[in-house]
Amino acid sequence: MAKSNGSKRIVRSAARKTVRKASKSGTGILILVAVVVLIIGALIALYMMGYLKIPGLNAPAEPEKAETETKVTPVVVYDSEDLVITFMELGNWYTGDCTFIKAGDCDILIDAGSRENSVPFLKAEIDKYCTDGKLEYVIVTHAHQDHIAGFAPASTTKDGIFDLYECGMIIDFALTNATSKVYESYCRELQDEINAGAKHMTAREVRESGEYVFTLSEGITMTILDNYYYYNETKDENDYSVCCLINQGGDRNFLFTGDLEEKGEAHLVEMNDLPKVNLFKGGHHGSYTANTEKLLSVIRPDIVCICCCAFNNEYTKDETRMFPAQDSIDRIAKYTDRVYVTTVSTDNENKTFQSLNGTIHVISKPKTEIEVQCTGEQAKLKDTTWFKTYRTLPEEWKDAA
Ligand SMILES: [Zn+2]
Repeated sequence: MAKSNGSKRIVRSAARKTVRKASKSGTGILILVAVVVLIIGALIALYMMGYLKIPGLNAPAEPEKAETETKVTPVVVYDSEDLVITFMELGNWYTGDCTFIKAGDCDILIDAGSRENSVPFLKAEIDKYCTDGKLEYVIVTHAHQDHIAGFAPASTTKDGIFDLYECGMIIDFALTNATSKVYESYCRELQDEINAGAKHMTAREVRESGEYVFTLSEGITMTILDNYYYYNETKDENDYSVCCLINQGGDRNFLFTGDLEEKGEAHLVEMNDLPKVNLFKGGHHGSYTANTEKLLSVIRPDIVCICCCAFNNEYTKDETRMFPAQDSIDRIAKYTDRVYVTTVSTDNENKTFQSLNGTIHVISKPKTEIEVQCTGEQAKLKDTTWFKTYRTLPEEWKDAA
């Protein structure tokens, strides 16, 4: 404000001198108008430069936002015991995954979007939390494009996630059948990041090392779960997914299973002592092939977040099986109605989309109820217009409706 007052004084004194000259020359009115214009111009310049604060006119100080961002993200205050899990919108019509986790000061990224053009959207969101340019852990669940695209720009001149952030440790899939271009690009970028100093282990190597529980922050750990398909081949790439469980304060659990499907989920239950979970990232984008009773009956989730472009026809023409599939919804409904979905297709021919719940933040602070904050609709899935139009309300949700 001192700068502002000083600048005003200079402007006022200049104005007085100009007015005295004007009355001498007899062209007072014209010059007075010029002076007024000069003062207004100066004030506008000061306002634009940020030296002048006009109550009600200046926007409140906010972190800089990327051009790609259209929604206001809730302000999240966190300390070393807090956990914020963000399921990101990906900026296009395609289904894919990207989950960003803030555990105290520790930044964890699981997968990186559906297409290369997701990268600016992911960066804008990550940068709200990750202020030191370093992701402590990056988990790459499996080699499908909708999970690795953001790591794997086709051209070496374009920036992927590994170009934009320093990575502490990268944990990825042990096996793959992938031969795609995007997988080749992923391998190239991964190697660059390893050369730059990142530690790399496959999930199998992590399990075999015996050190598969990582301390992320005060009272917050991440366990790389065991999966039969870290060691055994399958035609189903999804079942190679790296799975992990985050525990906060001993009693809160958050489960991430990538695109694991029926067989993978069955082995996961058998090979790990899974707890009841507060949050489950809906399996395989809410596919009917995942979210089986075998897994759900063990983890009994309170909140389920599904990352997909709902009702797009990328994988099927069967509307009941488009993500999130009616079968999956019916199975999840036995345990919770707190289901949230990131994005929805608005036109499958033109590949247009909009936010359903948008980017979903799950905020867990000790001794406080876990909160869900969405940049899009704040409603549970069952209360959204999309659901009422295209899905059938499960029996279990009827009472609560
Ligand atoms: Zn996927």
